[in-house]
Amino acid sequence: MEQAIPDEMFMNPKLVHELVEVAKDASLLQGVLMRTQETPNSSELVVYAPFTLFPTAVPEAIYHQALAVQTHYNVLMDKISQDVDFLQETLASTIAVDDFTARLFSIHQQILTEGRAPSIALGINRSDYMLDHRGDGTLSLKQIEINTIAASFGGLASRTPSVHRHVLNVVGRLEERRRIPDNDPAAGFSRALAKAWELYGSKSAIIIFLVEESNVNVFDQRFVENELWKRNIPTKRMQFEDIHKMGSLNHDKRLFVNDQEVAVVYFRSGYMPHNYSSEQSWDVRLMMERSLAVKCPDIGTHLAGTKKVQQVLAKPGVLERFFPDQPQIVEQIRATFAGLYTLDMGPEGDKSVEMALAAPDRFVLKPQREGGGNNIYGSEMSDVLQRLKDSPERMAYILMDKIQPIPAKNILLRRDAAPEIRDCLSELGAFGVYVRHDGDMVMNECVGHLLRTKSAEHADGGVSAGVAVLDNPLLV
Ligand code: ADP
Ligand code: MG
Repeated sequence: MEQAIPDEMFMNPKLVHELVEVAKDASLLQGVLMRTQETPNSSELVVYAPFTLFPTAVPEAIYHQALAVQTHYNVLMDKISQDVDFLQETLASTIAVDDFTARLFSIHQQILTEGRAPSIALGINRSDYMLDHRGDGTLSLKQIEINTIAASFGGLASRTPSVHRHVLNVVGRLEERRRIPDNDPAAGFSRALAKAWELYGSKSAIIIFLVEESNVNVFDQRFVENELWKRNIPTKRMQFEDIHKMGSLNHDKRLFVNDQEVAVVYFRSGYMPHNYSSEQSWDVRLMMERSLAVKCPDIGTHLAGTKKVQQVLAKPGVLERFFPDQPQIVEQIRATFAGLYTLDMGPEGDKSVEMALAAPDRFVLKPQREGGGNNIYGSEMSDVLQRLKDSPERMAYILMDKIQPIPAKNILLRRDAAPEIRDCLSELGAFGVYVRHDGDMVMNECVGHLLRTKSAEHADGGVSAGVAVLDNPLLV
């Protein structure tokens, strides 16, 4: 993406120093906060969430393209989540070799055999993109992935526009300041959670935020919790372990913790293998899935967000299965796909391996993992593919074109790191929410965006992985 701020500003160390302090204070004042790694479960000590000193230029048309396609991605994820045959066919090769996906899939199968059709579905997701710099000089919106479980930073992203607007104010760039779009995903998340809670229809029932053992990103979640409390909807933060101790299903499959009924379980954990620290965590996941409580996401929607599903969706004719009479929607979604290639056993997968080995810098090798830092690039990718090329283990991965965004200068502000000028790459996310009730979509919206920026030297890694930082688009 382009640079929003002229070079001169970076060249004035005194100004930069002053601005860094102004920016940090502004983020603390706005509540753009995290707990520290040393004390992840206490708010005695907090620190600003890492962010860029300046916003990053994003072409307006591309920003609107990302927001506009989001409601279609919502529908797509929801349809996939209910398409038993598609999930089975698509994930068959993956679950043969990937234990985590296999475990999730077995819950999906178990629920199917028990035969329950939940009447309310709630999705909160984030589709992430980079702007690919094509040979003809134009930029094109390409999806990195879609997160259908624990999509984070909607809370903090609701507060970051004020920080960058203030920074631009201080340097007298009032025109640019106006081009930072408003953002309030936290409000959108809570509206969707509230809608699902209302449809569940029990005034005394609570919403559980299922959280990790380490709660560094608690403030991001608090923004959403607090919006719910304002609506008089009670929320409780719980871990798998707590629900194991206190949770149960009653005779008609209502979920209770102690004697409190649960209307909605909102997952901010459960997306990584290490979130399931014991067999009991898996028991809890199954119990919640069996229950009448609304799961955000349910197991089908979780599986719909796997990278294997993303790869299969890019095959010719597959999107048409979900939008048979809507070629414009198919076109709109497909325009955001990068090249995605199977590594299943057989001639097609062999071709993908050959292609990657011949030009390792053009591709990314991705396992079915979330949370950043799992993908494999360059010479390491070649080593892994050489080792796995004749083994079914390669089916745990997909291959993807490496997207090539244009670097822009910025300064990353992070605790204990000198604020140096870096060449940076950005990733734009669009937040989607939807609620389905008895087969009808009663809510389907794009509720905001997230821009994250990292130093170009890092191939991979999100904010929680300690690589990317929060940013804002400045529309140009
Ligand atoms: P995760 O589920 O771990 O977040 P992602 O698919 O989002 O996995 O990949 C993590 C990071 O790796 C992204 O934030 C991005 O920086 C980088 N990345 C992933 N896919 C690509 C790609 N196709 N081209 C360039 N960078 C990529
Ligand atoms: Mg990601």
